[in-house]
Amino acid sequence: MRGREFLMKDGYSFHADRADCEREYRHMYETYERIFNRCGLRFRAVEADTGAIGGSMSHEFQVLADSGEDAIVACNECSYAANVEKAEIGAGDGAVSGATASEQLSRVATPAKRTIDEVSAFLGVPAERFIKTLVFVDDDGKSVVALVRGDHQISEAKLKIALGAQWIALADADTVRRVTGASVGFAGPVGLDARIVADHALRGIRGAVTGANKDDEHLVGVEHERDFGKGTTFADLRQAVAGDLCPRCGKGVFAEHRGIEVGQVFYLGTKYSAPLGATFLDAGGQAHPIEMGTYGIGVSRTMAAAVEQNHDKDGIIWPLALSPFPVEIVPTSVTDEPVRDAAEKLYGELRANGVEALIDDRDERPGVKFKDADLIGITLRVTVGQKGLAKGVVELRERREKTNHELALGDAVAHVTRLVRDAGRVR
Ligand SMILES: [Zn+2]
Repeated sequence: MRGREFLMKDGYSFHADRADCEREYRHMYETYERIFNRCGLRFRAVEADTGAIGGSMSHEFQVLADSGEDAIVACNECSYAANVEKAEIGAGDGAVSGATASEQLSRVATPAKRTIDEVSAFLGVPAERFIKTLVFVDDDGKSVVALVRGDHQISEAKLKIALGAQWIALADADTVRRVTGASVGFAGPVGLDARIVADHALRGIRGAVTGANKDDEHLVGVEHERDFGKGTTFADLRQAVAGDLCPRCGKGVFAEHRGIEVGQVFYLGTKYSAPLGATFLDAGGQAHPIEMGTYGIGVSRTMAAAVEQNHDKDGIIWPLALSPFPVEIVPTSVTDEPVRDAAEKLYGELRANGVEALIDDRDERPGVKFKDADLIGITLRVTVGQKGLAKGVVELRERREKTNHELALGDAVAHVTRLVRDAGRVR
């Protein structure tokens, strides 16, 4: 995915007022949707962090592929999609279902059992009954204890927002010992004199397991209000997972995908124009900062993402709009004069129609040519052979379908031209 070449399309918009700039943002968003649709890609527009570029509104266009570097969740009912670190989770969603009776708080020996998996197996208690206790340090060097359910993952991005911190990091072993009195793996919120922030899913939990702030010991029967309710604040702290209820439509649930980012749109407002003094004069001669947006597509990356999403064991399957050539002509023999002539005539007529065609005029066996054609992955292949010509036909094969259709020799040019024109590839 990360080639030496990085070809990028970049665009900027400049407006006098915010409403016009936001309308342009929506236009560009819709334009990008049309571009990636026409490229034949399966993608989602994902609400994005504005990160280093800043501004207040941004969407990433993510092509869905198992090899993608970004973990995203997308609603199965509406258009909401987000990075797992960012996806909003409704308060109360993910809480342990079915009320558990109150249990007595007690201490159990868990020698050298540090991870949730180890303690879960040792005690025979499922991971969702654990309170995962993580110690972080913020930009002021202050420690804070974050709690998430044992089967959930903390989102550091959300924790940062909950704390209003610029920067956070997991604490080192010495800090963990100073804060909890125990080594890593035995921390818990009960009796802890620290700032504690817990994920919503832990609200009202009972019969839970957590570290006892003492080496080789855990607590069982832990409950929220009784044992760590005082001073604990709640926030959305966890990464979204498949099955979480969509916070936007309230009907759909999230599915998990891997994504490859191929484009991003930003509404910047006056973030750059104000400090740089990029102003315009209004009708009354008053200077105002320009309202800005920025819009980018990774062009070479889009090609790479298309290949990640469209291939099989034999090679690439180019979507018609992206294929280096929309059609490849394969004469089964170039020493057979009628076959060669028919293939070259087809090639010439397609080009005359504005169809970019490729012809494999190598003196190779048909099997070698077919294998190479599958590998290169040109969307349409027209095979010209002796047997077909005897019947007055050529064979059209779509790379994705791997099935052959016979075309009357006289109709072949018009038929192929129509297919290519429908994909917007005829000049
Ligand atoms: Zn939804």
